[in-house]
Amino acid sequence: MMEPILREGLSALSLPTGGIPALIRYGELLAERNKVMNLTAITEPAEAARLHFLDSAALLALADFRGEAVVDVGTGAGFPGLPLRILEPSLRLTLLDAQRKRVDFLREVCGELGLEDVECVHGRAEEFARERREGFGLAVSRAVAALPVLAELCLPLVKTGGRFLAMKSVDTAEELNASGRAVSLLGGRLEKPVDYVIPGTNIPRRLVIITKIAETPKKYPRTFAKIKKNPL
Ligand code: SAH
Repeated sequence: MMEPILREGLSALSLPTGGIPALIRYGELLAERNKVMNLTAITEPAEAARLHFLDSAALLALADFRGEAVVDVGTGAGFPGLPLRILEPSLRLTLLDAQRKRVDFLREVCGELGLEDVECVHGRAEEFARERREGFGLAVSRAVAALPVLAELCLPLVKTGGRFLAMKSVDTAEELNASGRAVSLLGGRLEKPVDYVIPGTNIPRRLVIITKIAETPKKYPRTFAKIKKNPL
């Protein structure tokens, strides 16, 4: 059921299809484990193929991930990071999530798929930034927080010259306007966002691209309580 959708979608993105068996196994584990723990609202195979795997895969057509150290902030059940790593094996991936059971699930999937080099971290982004500040060429994130908050969680992790890619819906004009100050205080520069359609659907998406042009001042990120109460 997933196979033809993935094959067609990846071909439409001009991406290699060799990762399809791993994506299918991942989808099976997701549907199975979701019966006993809350991982995602989407497990029906055709839907998961499009809304999780192809939505994630679309990033590979929009940015160069080859050989990059990538952190996926608030990855949940692994999106978008894990499909990116399956389809682009040179990517050095760190999956970060604040919920332990989700990280346990990710470790299980990586074990099953033989992805031993994927780092699965249970923790909060604002605390992880203390250990791995400016440690990644790319940060990615989907469905975690509004941009002013998300920028403070993600930009400290990105090295100068690197980029933060935020997956958003297309109605983000207001959110984008509201994030200008936060982004520049954190050492970032908002680029022109890129709109795309998930292959095989008519669902539009927007990739917000932020380039790290200067080191993030040491006072950021603040504690989550402060970030939330008083977004930049
Ligand atoms: N990116 C996934 C999951 C989105 S749900 C997807 O698109 O399907 C949001 C996830 O972000 C949750 O799993 C939650 O635990 C995690 N999260 C929220 N705030 C976080 C923080 N400050 N640090 C790390 N993870 C966080």
